[in-house]
Amino acid sequence: MDFAGQRVLIIGMARSGLAAASVLNKRGAQITICDQKNLDYFTEKLNSITETEIKIIAGGYPEVHKGDFDLVVVSPGIPLDIPPIAVARKENIPIIGEVELAYLIKKADVEMYAITGTNGKTTTTSLLELIMTEDGRDSVSGGNIGTPLATLVDNMTSGVISVEVSSFQLETINKFRPHICGILNITPDHLDRHKTMELYVKAKSRIFENQTENDYVVLNYEDSILRELAQKCQSQVVYFSTEQILPEGAFVEYNKVIVLLAGNRREICSIDEIRLRGKHNLENVLCAVLMATLAGVESGIIRKCLMGFAGVRHRMEEVPAKNGVLYINDSKATNPESAIKAISSFVQPIILIAGGRNKGSSFTNFASVIKNKVKDLVLVGEAREEIKRAVIEAGFVNIHEVEDFNAAVLKAIELADTGDVVLLSPACASWDMFDNYEQRGDLFCKIVNSISSKQNYA
Ligand code: ADP
Repeated sequence: MDFAGQRVLIIGMARSGLAAASVLNKRGAQITICDQKNLDYFTEKLNSITETEIKIIAGGYPEVHKGDFDLVVVSPGIPLDIPPIAVARKENIPIIGEVELAYLIKKADVEMYAITGTNGKTTTTSLLELIMTEDGRDSVSGGNIGTPLATLVDNMTSGVISVEVSSFQLETINKFRPHICGILNITPDHLDRHKTMELYVKAKSRIFENQTENDYVVLNYEDSILRELAQKCQSQVVYFSTEQILPEGAFVEYNKVIVLLAGNRREICSIDEIRLRGKHNLENVLCAVLMATLAGVESGIIRKCLMGFAGVRHRMEEVPAKNGVLYINDSKATNPESAIKAISSFVQPIILIAGGRNKGSSFTNFASVIKNKVKDLVLVGEAREEIKRAVIEAGFVNIHEVEDFNAAVLKAIELADTGDVVLLSPACASWDMFDNYEQRGDLFCKIVNSISSKQNYA
């Protein structure tokens, strides 16, 4: 697509917006970039673009009128009902996000493989990126993680980008067509933004909307929503399952990971060789393995990656501690579904730290899993009363309510006996107490490290 002379409004002046400004400026577009935050906030970050012809509007959005712009580029996280977007929609000005922009500017020899799902995206995308690198391809990952996609694409002439795509990003695609894509699972999340489950599923399903019969969509057979969505795919549907042997796709048989495609059976590795922990990670592994096999990667290379890949920080991350207690930082578990998976991964007695900001989820199932598997529950943050009500209703009583996150970690450490697991898997977002889940996870690790080393020297 030719952007020369196009009048583009970029909404959001964080990393993604600045990357869009830079690549579009290079291509001769006339850019206006705006953000609600005041200019002081951006002073340093704007160095990369202030010397150019780019018009900057900070401290609010510009009024958009018919004919003002040819294109609107929205950064991830910007609500799609703000006034400039509402006007653009009414005036039929195309509105795109960073995934679409990257797709439009990429060179023909750059492939984009896309992964979405409620949980497991980052893990699966990172694993796929690793496999592609081991296969000798020019391989990077981006999207919801890491470097903004537009910057990545701008620097590549060939190779593969493993793209993590959120439902928000899928709301602003138009022509985006990954040759291979995967959906891991769809469970209620982000309903504060999407309003209904139906709209959330609809956003997720856009990942395959432009695919044709030459493309592949990899789906989790155990997810009934995904099996239903398969009816709508134009592309070739290939399933994976952690539960059963399939006539085609990826599955586990006699403890071995098998990929069966067009009658060709490949034994990838034994389950015990996979370094990632937990059944949920087996879903992620099967999805990545299947996508990599469809991309032509040989089994030996995939096996080597599965044996080496220890996962991504803040996702079931083991914190080194030597006092006979296993400490797990799963701060990225920001919804009940992912926390349930974490709890289900352990046979040891669990002391669970949960709470934070609820993103519109119900805690009913979470509470019954807690009742069955958790020894002590430490509750913190905005949602603690809501979780408390749910677990009491489920018949669970070992509840410890605390005022702040430090106190939560210290309480959990105090409660833990040798052989227990202290699990931070909050089932909630961190925004009531932290800027992000990384900060929450880092603090957990810091406290655990300091306390457990003190105990060792005591
Ligand atoms: P995402 O990028 O979709 O948020 P992550 O890989 O960052 O996914 O994992 C987020 C959280 O979900 C972590 O707590 C992780 O342990 C958990 N998780 C990872 N994979 C799955 C899965 N397939 N199903 C449910 N939970 C998962």
